[in-house]
Amino acid sequence: MAKIEFKFDIDGALQDEPLLDSYELEYMFHQTRESMVAALERKLDGVVCDEHQQEPSITITGRYDGETEQMDIDYHIDTCCQMFLLKVVNMLNNVN
Ligand SMILES: [Zn+2]
Repeated sequence: MAKIEFKFDIDGALQDEPLLDSYELEYMFHQTRESMVAALERKLDGVVCDEHQQEPSITITGRYDGETEQMDIDYHIDTCCQMFLLKVVNMLNNVN
């Protein structure tokens, strides 16, 4: 199974907002993480490098922008080699 790590960042003014907003944000982050991890695990189930038998390791960063109220998602993928990286990127791009 691929290793999947999740991080969240908040940009902008939201950190100074009242508690209710950060609670809602927590909830949104939680929901996002659940659905993304489930989708990634499904896509990358049993995927290992043909040559090195290593699994990919994926770090997802969700960055919430308090100004625009948008969530940006970034992937960082670590693999044993370049060939496998390309393969994993391809699989992730072949979405849904
Ligand atoms: Zn490899």
